[in-house]
Amino acid sequence: MWDQLIIGYLAGIIEGEGTITFNKWNRQTPSPKIAVAMTDKDTIQRLYDVSGIGNLTGPFIRGNYQPIYKWTVYSNADVTRLLLAIAPIMSERRREKILEAAECLKIRSAFKKCVVCDRSYQGQPNQMYCSKPCHNKSSNDKRKTSR
Ligand SMILES: [Zn+2]
Repeated sequence: MWDQLIIGYLAGIIEGEGTITFNKWNRQTPSPKIAVAMTDKDTIQRLYDVSGIGNLTGPFIRGNYQPIYKWTVYSNADVTRLLLAIAPIMSERRREKILEAAECLKIRSAFKKCVVCDRSYQGQPNQMYCSKPCHNKSSNDKRKTSR
């Protein structure tokens, strides 16, 4: 299991440097993979060590550029686990890819859209708000309009 510190670390690096891409192969449903590529070998090694998942590749050398190292999570089970862990703290710019990946992994129902702030979040089937503040805001608005 990952604690909150590890989840925060993984999310922060994936937010800044990660990519979510889709392997099409021959299948009907593409498999999402999550990768981080960096010239900093230490960081890539740490991603692998703290997460306990994925693969390390590199160095990839292109011309006179610094060698690139890469951490890639391929397996559907690992991508699912990672996405569910980091999604709540990822920014909106990642949402489209996360939802696309969730669709492929058949975990789309775990992600909902808050009716107040539009953020995606994970919640119970009957839940409509991402957080308590949004829930409160919604009931305050209702109170105002009914006055
Ligand atoms: Zn909200």
